Amino acid sequence: MLNTPIVAANWKMNKTPQEGYAFVNKIRNMLLDIHKAKVIFCPPFTALFHMNAILEETPHALGAQNVHWEPKGAYTGEIAVEMLQACGVTYVIIGHSERRHIFQEPDDWINAKMGAVLEGDLTPILCIGETLQERESGNTERVLERQLQEGLKELPQGSLEKVIIAYEPVWAIGTGVNATCDQVKQAHETIRNLLRMQDSETEVSTVPILYGGSVNVKNAQELIETWGVDGFLIGGASLEVTSLAHIIHIVEDNYTRKAW
Ligand code: PEP
Repeated sequence: MLNTPIVAANWKMNKTPQEGYAFVNKIRNMLLDIHKAKVIFCPPFTALFHMNAILEETPHALGAQNVHWEPKGAYTGEIAVEMLQACGVTYVIIGHSERRHIFQEPDDWINAKMGAVLEGDLTPILCIGETLQERESGNTERVLERQLQEGLKELPQGSLEKVIIAYEPVWAIGTGVNATCDQVKQAHETIRNLLRMQDSETEVSTVPILYGGSVNVKNAQELIETWGVDGFLIGGASLEVTSLAHIIHIVEDNYTRKAW
């Protein structure tokens, strides 16, 4: 069985609410023939409310780039699950490498966020991936294992069924150098096996595993055809309407072809 393909656009710190609204207003007409792929827009917090107003008229979804695990209180600059829910958010990116590396987010924070998001009935997109140094020293598998184990630690039974994993090698994010299809296949296979070991009760073949790292209109076809890739988490190429629409069509067409 093929998993529903997913394309998540991570806009990082780009676009005002007005720009986000205009983007969706434009791309929605280019996506009228998309019936299988799930498209998720993850703008900055400030654009969520405004963008929800237009996304509600489409089949596409709204995601946040981060969240805090506490429900409220003295956490200056942070955003709670309930605030995201009130803006129409249904997905939350957790543990993005820019959060892990620039903002030094440790695994236990990521785990706390996973718990809060799942408790709030939102879908977490848990990002994991190795640095270049970790890959070159042969530690990729160990890093993926640690990030998965720590990120998913002590979550309620059955949580895996509600989780999306994004494999994002740090060295491929925003660099223009994507992982090769072989590297992606190997990593996705490793992740699937690790999930199986982590939770033998859950059918892990249905957990979507996305690839992220310099996906663009040129490499999207071969990457989506790669074994174990259920879709993409896209940064740079998701900022431009034409390139995002093009990649979404590649993902949709690949699914339609394989589903036959
Ligand atoms: C990302 O931000 O998750 C990402 C994959 O960025 P880019 O596509 O620009 O490499």
